[in-house]
Amino acid sequence: MYARVLAGDASYNGRFFMGVLTTGIYCLPACKARKPKPGNVRFFPTCEAAREAGLRACKKCHPDDFARGADPVLETVESLVAEVRTAPANFPDARAIVRRSGFGSTRVFELFRQHYHTTPADLLLRARLDLATRHLLASDATLSEIALEAGFEALSAFHDNFRRLNGLTPTAYRALRDGGAFEIALPEGYLLPYLRRALSRDIHSLTERLEGDIYTAAVQLSTGPAVLTLRLSPRKIEVAQAFCLPSNHEAGWKPALLPELHALVVGLLGLDEDAAAFARLARKLGLARLVAGRPELRISRTPSVFDGLLWSIIGQQINFPFACLLKRRLVERAGTPLPGGLYAPPTPAAVAALEPADLLPLQYSRQKADYIITTARLIVSGKLDLAALATMSATRAERTLLAIRGLGPWSVNYLMMRSLGFPDCVPLGDTGVTSGLQALLKLEERPDVDATRRLMAVFSPYRSLATAHLWQFNQPIPT
Ligand SMILES: [Zn+2]
Repeated sequence: MYARVLAGDASYNGRFFMGVLTTGIYCLPACKARKPKPGNVRFFPTCEAAREAGLRACKKCHPDDFARGADPVLETVESLVAEVRTAPANFPDARAIVRRSGFGSTRVFELFRQHYHTTPADLLLRARLDLATRHLLASDATLSEIALEAGFEALSAFHDNFRRLNGLTPTAYRALRDGGAFEIALPEGYLLPYLRRALSRDIHSLTERLEGDIYTAAVQLSTGPAVLTLRLSPRKIEVAQAFCLPSNHEAGWKPALLPELHALVVGLLGLDEDAAAFARLARKLGLARLVAGRPELRISRTPSVFDGLLWSIIGQQINFPFACLLKRRLVERAGTPLPGGLYAPPTPAAVAALEPADLLPLQYSRQKADYIITTARLIVSGKLDLAALATMSATRAERTLLAIRGLGPWSVNYLMMRSLGFPDCVPLGDTGVTSGLQALLKLEERPDVDATRRLMAVFSPYRSLATAHLWQFNQPIPT
């Protein structure tokens, strides 16, 4: 427990409390106050036990609030962000966010970085773009009206940022309402070979297939299974074909689904990630070799959060080929077979309907089978809302996920970076990360969890991209 305190390990907050006899206070394990000497420390299972021993609550880390499930500072930041997202035009710039917060500027930047993995300015920009995106689809207002309503001062800033993060112009985005094929422009220097590697990680996959420049994937959209076909080329990705089921299995476009499909493809491409900012940071740290040859590397996100969730449980503690095998067997057992040989990935309902005994013959351990099915049942019963996770603060999303049996820090952070798009996550204990760090920093041995946390801290708030680069560091360069 003392080691967790020294490491400032927030995932232990609430699991025990630390009393400091010399000061007479008790704290959360991750309290930022000066670390006490081991001889002066006693540990307690609850706040009550600490109070009975004559200690009082720390005014810095508020252990009682945490134990109650309350976190007043986090809640303040969350309601501020909700205000920004609802009416971004009320905030002309980041300074307006700082003023509204009631905190000092440095503190606001620290809180946004910690809880939202971003800066107030970037969060504001994305809030403006999200609002504009919704209005483009739902209204017939002119682009100028929409830009103004979202808080953009100039139409050009709206246009440029929209195109950078969405891969198409506002006008082309609005045209998704009419259906039909569309294409997404790739930024200068986009690394297609790395995308191809990400899309063909499991060459035996039952849900996706990469043949030449054609990528075909069976996915679950809000209306059910669909197949989409992408034509990959260095400057653009054509979303060439999609059909939704049930249908006559003919290529057909459902206009209502195109925005959903567009968002899915943006995630696959990692288009909204700030690759250039991370590359600059790495060079500034004197670690140019980490990004050498791939400054534009991005994280290819999973087609759905549930896909990522399954993978984050299946992939625990086993090697990659075996994880792929288990995944395929689950897809075959609970997915939807489609014409053409692909399977749509299993839905939460399909997995929730299984019993552990169904998965044991597929070489699942009892525990893994249990975790997968229990989690799927939480989703089906409404106790776990996957769609809500991406808009939560990172802190709230992490706490929500850590509370689920079967999801530890590795799974949670893996899911947050690979499926939810949070930019500052480290899947602690990941062997790709530790062996990447060892090679990058020429360490004599692989760093343990605490050393990993310490070494990765310099990459904040881009630790997800740092992780992606470390995964590639010992790999051959794809062609
Ligand atoms: Zn404290």
